[in-house]
Amino acid sequence: MTGSLTVVGLGPGRAELTTPAASAALADATDLIGYGPYLDRIVAAPAGQRRHASDNRVELDRARHALELAASGKSVAVVSGGDPGVFAMAAAVFEAIEAGPAEWRALDIRVEPGVTAMLAAAAEIGAPLGSDFCAISLSDNLKSWTTITRRLEAACVGDFVIALYNPLSKARPHQLGEAFDILRRHKSPSSVIVMVRAAGSGEMRRITTTLGEVDPNKADMRTLVLIGSSATRLIARDGGEPWIYTPRREELAP
Ligand code: SAH
Repeated sequence: MTGSLTVVGLGPGRAELTTPAASAALADATDLIGYGPYLDRIVAAPAGQRRHASDNRVELDRARHALELAASGKSVAVVSGGDPGVFAMAAAVFEAIEAGPAEWRALDIRVEPGVTAMLAAAAEIGAPLGSDFCAISLSDNLKSWTTITRRLEAACVGDFVIALYNPLSKARPHQLGEAFDILRRHKSPSSVIVMVRAAGSGEMRRITTTLGEVDPNKADMRTLVLIGSSATRLIARDGGEPWIYTPRREELAP
C-alpha cells in the first residue's frame, strides 16, 4: 500500500483562519508530525491518530521521518504555522525527496496552503502590501548573514515593502538591529515600520514607528516586521491606531 504525505499550513493562529481543506487533511491523517506548539493548536483528533512532536530545528530529519512513515503506508500530515511553503516544512520535504530513495517519488504528496504571517499582519493594519513587496527571513541557520544583508540592500534599491520573518531569537539577538542599520543607509528615517506580534491570533499587538525611531528589542520570534516603501502611507485616526497602506497607483507616492 502506498501512503500519503500532506504538508499542512495551520494559518497564523485563530482556528477560523485554518482553511477547511487544511482541517480535512488533518482529520484524514493517521499520523501528525510537527513542532510541539503547532501540534498543540490542533484540538480535534480522530481516534487512533498518532502525534510525533519534535523540536523546531531539525526540519530535514522531521521530513525524512514523515516520508518513511508515508512509505510504510501511513497517511501523514506534516504541520507548519502559517503557510507550509513560506520558511517552513514544505521545502524540507521536497529536499528530502530529491535526495532520498526513488520510492518516495511514488508517494501521494500534497501541500495545503495557509495564511502566512505576512498576510495576517498586513490585514491587521490596513493594506501595506498594496504594491510590490518582498519577504526576507533574518534567520541565518540555513543561509549566511552576507546573503541576508545583500538581499536587504537589494530590497532597498528596489524600494519594495519588506516583510521580515524570524526577526531575532535568543541565539541571535542582534540581527534585527543590524538589519535596521543597513536599511538606514538606504532609506529615509521617516520610513514607516510596523511590528505586528501574534497577527491573526486574537492576541495581536502592534507597534507603529519609523526607521529613525524603531527599537529592535521590541520584537520577538512571534513578530513580523513590516517596513514601508517610499510610497507607504499612514492614515491617522482619533483614538485608534493608524491605518497603513501602500497605494497601487504610483502617482500617489510622495
Ligand atoms: N510558515 C510560517 C513562517 C515560519 S517562520 C508562515 O507562513 O507564517 C517563523 C516566523 O514567522 C516568526 O519568527 C515570525 O516572524 C513569523 N510569524 C509566524 N506567525 C506569526 C504571527 N501569527 N504573527 C506575526 N508573525 C508571525
